[in-house]
Amino acid sequence: MAAIAVICMLILISTFTLYRSAQSRQVELQDQMLSIEVNRLQRAIEVNLQKEAYFIVWLANNFQNDGQITKENWLSVTSNIRETFPFFIGVYWMNTDGEMLLNSPSKFKPNVDMSTWQITPPVQFNTMPVLSKLSTSNVIKDSNGELFVEMRHPVEFNGRIAGYLGARYNVDHMLKAIAAQFLRPEQTLVLSDSVNQFYGELPNGHGVLTNMVDVNALNGKWQLTVWQQTDYDRSYFSLPMLIFISGIVVTVLVAISLYLLEVNVMGRRAESATVAKLKGEITQRREVEAQLQFTANHDPQTHLPNRFALETYLERSIRGEQDVVLMCIALDKLQEVNDMYGYLVADQLLLEAAKRFKSVLPPHALLARTSNDQFMIACPGMSQLEAEMQANQLRMCLEEEFFIEDNDILTTCAIGIAYRYIEDMRADELLRHADTAAHKAKALGSRKVVAYNQTMQEQLNHKKELERAIRKAINNDELQLHFQPQVDLRTRQVVGVEALVRWESSNGTVISPDIIIQTAEETGLMQRLGHWVVDTALKQFSHMLDERCAPKCIAINVSGHEFQDGYLADYVIRSVTRYDIPPQRVQIELTEQVFIENLERNQHILNRLTTSGISLAIDDFGTGYSSLAYLKHFPVNTVKIDRGFIKDLPQSKDDLVICQAVVSMANLLQLKVVAEGVETIDQQELLRNIGCNFAQGHFYYPPMTADDLIALLKKQRAGRLYPAS
Ligand code: C2E
Ligand code: CA
Ligand code: CA
Repeated sequence: MAAIAVICMLILISTFTLYRSAQSRQVELQDQMLSIEVNRLQRAIEVNLQKEAYFIVWLANNFQNDGQITKENWLSVTSNIRETFPFFIGVYWMNTDGEMLLNSPSKFKPNVDMSTWQITPPVQFNTMPVLSKLSTSNVIKDSNGELFVEMRHPVEFNGRIAGYLGARYNVDHMLKAIAAQFLRPEQTLVLSDSVNQFYGELPNGHGVLTNMVDVNALNGKWQLTVWQQTDYDRSYFSLPMLIFISGIVVTVLVAISLYLLEVNVMGRRAESATVAKLKGEITQRREVEAQLQFTANHDPQTHLPNRFALETYLERSIRGEQDVVLMCIALDKLQEVNDMYGYLVADQLLLEAAKRFKSVLPPHALLARTSNDQFMIACPGMSQLEAEMQANQLRMCLEEEFFIEDNDILTTCAIGIAYRYIEDMRADELLRHADTAAHKAKALGSRKVVAYNQTMQEQLNHKKELERAIRKAINNDELQLHFQPQVDLRTRQVVGVEALVRWESSNGTVISPDIIIQTAEETGLMQRLGHWVVDTALKQFSHMLDERCAPKCIAINVSGHEFQDGYLADYVIRSVTRYDIPPQRVQIELTEQVFIENLERNQHILNRLTTSGISLAIDDFGTGYSSLAYLKHFPVNTVKIDRGFIKDLPQSKDDLVICQAVVSMANLLQLKVVAEGVETIDQQELLRNIGCNFAQGHFYYPPMTADDLIALLKKQRAGRLYPAS
């Protein structure tokens, strides 16, 4: 903007300078012009005055030559005089006595009293001696205000002045005629003689041009002045004015153009700034999109493609009619590593595992991390045999020891393989099959490679159906509780009962409680189920107490899942009080694992139970950590030897050794030992021989309904019960 102002100022200054110089140049030209015109005017006035003067001189000479002046010759020369010399007012002939003898026109009355003339000494026309005798008056103004000059010339007859020939000359008319001929309207003529200014007015004020010359009038010098208004004052279209206006117009145009240019440049600058900003934003957005895309398609820990990316890849391969084999690697013990060494080590383990997998995979295979402890590999164009070999190679490379942050870590995995055995198999189906096969491999005890087959799917479907049905059974209260007696091997008396859940489906199939419990845990119904079991068992036991046939103790199974929620212990204690059962007659069976896992937290719950008088039993002893050393830390009073150690007795020497160890340790710690699943007399005898006092099994009684149990217990009370020996 400042630049525009400076440029406009410069243009304006130049315009003004140009305007001023044009103006002065014009004045100069006008001045020159005026000077020429004035000279012409001077000449015209001089010629006019002289012409008349010459005529008078000529007339006088003519009369002189004639030797007389008669009326006739007077008339012959003067009758048409006004036509030839329009500025003569009149001519006359006068004798020396001042007596007028002849005049023309006849009405013309000359002023013969010469004294009223102010006759100036005759002009010495050196260059015109012919006029030497002519005398003229000053310019005189008559009563009408008209200007005139009197002139006369002596006429000599016979060498003696006989009279004077005179004329009155109308200066006013002459000047007006000349002015009309030579002057332009804006010009004004001013004449003065030595005495006064007799014609025209001088201007007062500025802005006029004047030019002055002397005129050789007959009686002396006149001063001729012509003045005029300068052109630029009158005309807006004079050159300087045009220059000035053009300058202003150019300035305005330049200012507008520069302004528009500036606006344009600024607009462009703003535009390019906006474009640059937009570009920046677009780049940023692209980066964010790329990042999002990456995040959406990759696992954050290993930066490997995730399940979504793998599915997309599979879909593309399937569309391209490419045969692809999918492997699913399920890592074992990742949670354990996490718990033991921390998540940093677990993450490092995953990275290292991925690195090892890549090192044995063909370059075109796609390795993805599909869930916490699961990798999947898509191998295009691989045969079934090759896939199995590849899977074993993967398994073995993982089983080699890892060294992570000074920790030696051993891990294993199970691998499932899925093939596209039908043409129209979708990517999600393939993924599901690989998952199923891996689960199967894991269920088979890990370190296994299992290829998917259709039975797996059928089993899965069956499981799902079962889940649905069990959920419904729990919700609709269709479950039942059976009781299995525990006997004292020394007296053969029923000393306790274990409550076991049962469910007979609508088609008559009896579903194993293991499945019921697992399903309830998986479907979030375990708390309800647990409460139902505790409630039903205690109710039945209170009924047995009422019937006065109750055994010493009722054992209720509690799963780890139930136990951990913390509320169960309270529920048991409350129920025991509610049914008014002596707490010493209630036992809670927990597996070894529950005792060991979260030892500190669980200890608190266990103590709550035992301080309230309820006793605890370790169920399935020998299947978990099997650490006899631990036993003394737990507030238990019963150990139940798992059926697995009993069933092969007495043949299995190993099982016998284990049973012997458990029994002697338990006796040492003053714990009660119950052998589970006793089916034969041999087993019974062996157990008795090694000091086990209590047993439970089909050899005695299978699990039975509450009614059957009460009938049995009543029989025992009546002493009519003779257990098998
Ligand atoms: P468990 O606590 O070890 O129960 C003993 C299991 O051995 C019962 O199986 C019983 O029927 C079976 N059994 C007893 N004697 C013999 C025998 O001589 N031969 C054979 N082959 N089996 C015998 P069941 O009733 O199928 O229960 C399986 C498991 O389900 C139980 O094992 C227990 O862990 C769980 N369970 C059962 N009811 C409940 C319950 O109400 N709550 C919880 N949390 N778990 C339960
Ligand atoms: Ca049990
Ligand atoms: Ca058991």
